[in-house]
Amino acid sequence: LASRDFHPENTVIQIGDVKIGGGELVVMGGPCAVESPEQIDEIARLVKAAGGQVLRGGAFKPRTGPYSFQGVGVEGLIMMAEAGKKHGLLTITEVMTPEYVDICAEYADILQIGTRNMQNFDLLRKLGTCGRPVLLKRGFSATYDELLNAAEYILAGGNPDVMLCERGIRTFESYTRNTLDLAAIPALQSLSHLPVISDPSHGTGRRELVEPMAKASVAAGADGLIIEMHTDPDNSMTGDGVQSLFPDQFAGLMRDLEQLSPIV
Ligand code: PEP
Ligand code: MN
Repeated sequence: LASRDFHPENTVIQIGDVKIGGGELVVMGGPCAVESPEQIDEIARLVKAAGGQVLRGGAFKPRTGPYSFQGVGVEGLIMMAEAGKKHGLLTITEVMTPEYVDICAEYADILQIGTRNMQNFDLLRKLGTCGRPVLLKRGFSATYDELLNAAEYILAGGNPDVMLCERGIRTFESYTRNTLDLAAIPALQSLSHLPVISDPSHGTGRRELVEPMAKASVAAGADGLIIEMHTDPDNSMTGDGVQSLFPDQFAGLMRDLEQLSPIV
């Protein structure tokens, strides 16, 4: 079902008046994690002012270590839904377990599956009936074929609205957190009809590389971007402050992107 042979036309996912995969660039911006109502409200205001369409933010965080901040949970879903509604943005948040799919789907417009869960098959099956579009992140060691097979679980379960997300893979390079595989963008678009979103934040792990890799992703044909932005990255509650743009950098990037691709 994910294959272009089966479905030659691009899948266009329409949520409210935002179309993903329809030729206009969609930008999802926001913090790694929802921290407080004030934090997410202010960041939502800035994402909207810069021209973004979707507010990102994790309420449930998949942390490498069990003692790290794990997210604020359901409270965070509520905070983000309120901020999204107030500022006229759609919202996307990560869901980590099948039991939380329903509550995340109640509060968020798009469900994100993290790199670590790309092959969590019970979770993928549950997404087939969640009633929300899904952004499926590529596992950091997954091939294109494995990513497309993971998408297939969601599609086969009855949900046609799947976006594929390149977020960097693990290579021998240690300067960057991951290696953003730009070739994945056109390759996945030729193999599949599903929209392809690039995540230059996790794909590089370094703030100064986010802007060039965002532009390169758009040049490579990405249907959208998901970018971390924080008002106070140095004091953010996850380690992802180092890859989060400052609000003025995010706004500057959005202005530059408008030259590259129509943003509506
Ligand atoms: C995130 O988007 O904050 C995140 C944890 O992403 P990934 O699953 O790509 O690491
Ligand atoms: Mn993050």
